[in-house]
Amino acid sequence: MHTRVDIKRNDTVKVITGRDKGKQGRVLRVFPDTAKVLVEHVMMVKKSVRPNPQRNIKGGIAEQESPISISNVMIVCPTCGPSRIGHEHRGEKRTRICRKCNAPLDK
Ligand SMILES: [Zn+2]
Repeated sequence: MHTRVDIKRNDTVKVITGRDKGKQGRVLRVFPDTAKVLVEHVMMVKKSVRPNPQRNIKGGIAEQESPISISNVMIVCPTCGPSRIGHEHRGEKRTRICRKCNAPLDK
């Protein structure tokens, strides 16, 4: 089944399940092929970094985000909080709206 990806970069999402349940963050990247998103400060994993003096990288342990499944997040409506994405059609244009309060989710 093909999952249509309605989450976009810079959306604010809330994690609804898993280790980081309850966390909220900005979408940094969307991976439509795997239906995953990279969310700021969510699913942080430790990664060892090799020192590279030429690029002024000290090396050691760095933390970085790892992608989580889109089905594990909900969009956060600026008006009413975590919600689902609905759609509104205006002529040719399709915009995303909050299903709870109908506020537009695209600026
Ligand atoms: Zn809303």
